Formats: sequence, C-alpha cells, structure tokens
Amino acid sequence: MTNIKKPALLAPAGSEEMAVLAFEAGADMVYAGPRGWSRRTRAFEVDDSTIEKIADYAAANGKILKLAFNTLPSSDEIPAGIESISRYYGMGLRHFIMTDPGFVRQIKNRFPDTVITASVGCSVMNIREFNFYRAAGFDVMVAPSEMPVGELEELKQQFEGEIEVLIHANRDYTYLGRCTMSSYFRFRHEIDEKGKDNFFGSPNRGGLCYRVCKSSWNSPCLQSAGCKPADLGNVCYLSFEEIPEYIRIGIDCLKIQGREYSPKLVEKLVKFYRQLVDECAENPDTVKNPQWKERLIEMEAQRDFERNKRTGALLEECRDDSRRIFANLEPLELKL
Ligand code: SF4
Repeated sequence: MTNIKKPALLAPAGSEEMAVLAFEAGADMVYAGPRGWSRRTRAFEVDDSTIEKIADYAAANGKILKLAFNTLPSSDEIPAGIESISRYYGMGLRHFIMTDPGFVRQIKNRFPDTVITASVGCSVMNIREFNFYRAAGFDVMVAPSEMPVGELEELKQQFEGEIEVLIHANRDYTYLGRCTMSSYFRFRHEIDEKGKDNFFGSPNRGGLCYRVCKSSWNSPCLQSAGCKPADLGNVCYLSFEEIPEYIRIGIDCLKIQGREYSPKLVEKLVKFYRQLVDECAENPDTVKNPQWKERLIEMEAQRDFERNKRTGALLEECRDDSRRIFANLEPLELKL
C-alpha cells in the first residue's frame, strides 16, 4: 500500500497545551471551541488569545486548526456568530465545524474559501442527507459512529465531498446530536459580552450536557413495571481494527474526541493512532499484531477514570441546580 492517500488525523484541543502535544504527537489537525459556541463546557473551550496562538503554531508547522461553531444559534445570535467567524477568518483560519445550514450559507456567501465540516450534531445518516448538507455549503460530512465499512464505502463512492469518521468517541444511547434529554435540564442561561446566549445543560444551545443518561435509572414506577435498575455506563468507542479498511476506501479524516481529557492522555492517543495509521498504510496486516489491542486497553482504563470523574461532577452540578430551582416552586396539585 505504498503511495496511498492517508486520512488526516484530527485531535482535540481543549487547551493550548493539549493542541501543542497533539500536533507534536503527529496530529495533522486539531479542533477547538471558541467560548460558548461548541457544545462543551467553558473549561474545555478556549479564548481568542489561545485560538490565535494555536492558529500561529498550526500555520508555522503546516497543520490545521478547525474551530467548532456547532451549537444551534437563535436568530439573535447569528450576527455575533458572523462577527466571531469574521475575526477568526482575519487570523487566517478557514476550517469551521458547524451545524446550522442557514448560518453556513451566510458564512459561505461571505467567505467562499472556508471549509465547513457538518458537525456530528447534524447526525447525517445517508447519501440524501449528505447531498442536502453539501448543497447547503458544507464540505466535509462526519459519518455516523460505528457505521459498517461496507456502508461507508458506498457513501464514499457516491458522495462528492470529504468524509470524516470518529475512531475514538463516547458511546451515546442515541445517535450523537439527536438527544433532546438535556433540554429538560436547562436551568439557567446567560448572554455573554459578545451576544452569545449560553444555555447551561444544553449542548445544542451552547452550554454543556449534564450527561443525565449516565445516571442510574431506577424509580418506583420502573420497579412496578418489573424493570431492573439500568446503568447506561460511560463507555467509549475505540476503533482500530477497521483502520486499514478506512484507508483502503479513501476516508479523508479520522477524528479522536476528548477535549475534556488530560493533555497527556490525548498525546498518548494521538501517538497510538499516528503510528497505527502510518504502519497500516504500508502493511494492512500489521493491525493483527496483539500489541495494538494491549496498548488500547491501557489507554481505555485511563480514559474511563478521567471520564467517570467528570461525569460524576456534572451529575452533581445538575442535582444542585435542580434543587436550587425547584426548592422555590409550589407543589403542583393535579385535579383529574
Ligand atoms: S444526555 Fe447522554 S445521550 Fe444525551 S447528549 Fe448527554 S451524554 Fe449524550
């Protein structure tokens, strides 16, 4: 498989340190979220001066910084979004991750040379949706997580744009981007100095998800229906055996999620996938070597530890907020 086109490796940048470690470990691109716009808590988004530093580092080293503008903006927020993207465009950035087709059309009209990825929040599932988003101005589609290679190959043959695949992500109980559960836990919001309305508890509207699905599911109602308590867990999706196939069918980009991880864990993940992609491009059979699985198991344990700690803190924050809000409400009396 010499001279074969290798997919780009895209890594998270929850901070400047993480971005630099990821680039040095072999990432071709990193993605970061400007404050309020990227479906994550502010702690893992970055301010403008950090964006400028990462952008400068990327430009000096032949790498790419993608910025995530993938919350769903209200009409009132669009001018602030356009102003922000114009500022980043002025810094030399051309790659953006977005969700809203109307917003994208406005950006493409102003800046035709931008490269827009349809966020995982778009949940594009089939060739018709791929073509719909392409016509709206998106250039790169993120394929649904865990899509079988045969289906991906068909999409790749039919689609006249680029395809990105998640190789390390969190396993959701629903399609990524189609969860509305957080909408019930939007307790507060605040409009920041740039006009962005941040709804805490709603990734779609610029806050963070409280991960309520990861809470243990048990109630007298479920018990009376004969259901056992359920725990959806905090499981991640790590693919490695499919990498030679992704290379063969011409997937354009492989993405590692994890802006909330420690920079050292991201560095390890990037090193692992860099080596794996490079070796598989030379010899697809290398993936059968048991060393890959052994290294992955070790990283998975560290990932589970970090993710569980964060999820516990989010669930606690959600409980605190709900106690505070509901403590002041009069109980409802239902008259049937
Ligand atoms: S509540 Fe669960 S499924 Fe829904 S967005 Fe959050 S983590 Fe994903």
